[in-house]
Amino acid sequence: MTIFDLQKRVAVITGGNGGIGLGMAKGLASAGAAVVIAGRNKAKAQSALSQLHALGAQAAFVELDVLDEASCQLAIQRAAERFGRLDILVNNAGTTVRAQPQDLTAQDWHLVMNTNLTGAFLCSQAAYPHMVRAGAGKIINVGSMMSVFASSYATPYAASKGGIVQMARAMAVAWAKDNIQVNTILPGWIDTDLTRKAREEVQGLHDKVLARTPAQRWGNPDDFAGIAVFLAAPASNFITGAAIAVDGGYSVQA
Ligand code: NDP
Repeated sequence: MTIFDLQKRVAVITGGNGGIGLGMAKGLASAGAAVVIAGRNKAKAQSALSQLHALGAQAAFVELDVLDEASCQLAIQRAAERFGRLDILVNNAGTTVRAQPQDLTAQDWHLVMNTNLTGAFLCSQAAYPHMVRAGAGKIINVGSMMSVFASSYATPYAASKGGIVQMARAMAVAWAKDNIQVNTILPGWIDTDLTRKAREEVQGLHDKVLARTPAQRWGNPDDFAGIAVFLAAPASNFITGAAIAVDGGYSVQA
């Protein structure tokens, strides 16, 4: 086995039916992992599965709504059963409500926090016994530039994405004894459904991102294949509790 080999490994990716999640799923599949896409939208999942099968990967879909605790338990259980084990969990499902803090409802707040933070907590908790049984595990969370910076229209989003970094650190400390590494990826601005909507709602966003990003482009989902493989593979076995920017230099631009 090479340090980037994921053969005989099984990964589950929440919200892996499109966008960044599918970019990571493709990376993991290319490195040899069997991939379970866990999500809501079955039509998107079918298209994702076709793309994964085209890579020669073993891939399956399980239904998951991260807002529902029982669904998190069941989806992780089914994912582990589908290919006989579970080694890698990617907590990617995410959403946002764009509004100034004074205009947000409690429902908006709970939707974003429960999707982005509580959902990741519940899926990690559900995955833990399977990883203990396997003698190792990798949990990869998806944070954001809003884990570090903030915007006036992203109060619950920034809170949830800041929270997921700290949650990962706490789990990294707790589960190091079980040989489980827990890390967080901090994407810059990536061209996906989520940000297509943002570009419609936030005037001037597209050009602002281009001007601020040293790489002079928006990211795309395929930019996440490599970091997913690295954080899922033996190559990163001594890295835990880290938050790694994948942002074309956005976060280091003065
Ligand atoms: P997408 O909208 O393509 O992906 C979000 C995914 O989350 C979708 O697959 C969606 O499923 C899923 N999801 C949302 N709510 C739930 C739920 N209740 N249960 C299960 N799945 C759910 O956008 P991205 O690919 O951009 O987002 C992926 C992650 O990356 C998110 O965590 C996001 O916050 C983060 N991110 C994105 C950035 C960007 O610039 N694009 C920057 C920083 C972070 P469905 O299709 O069923 O709605």
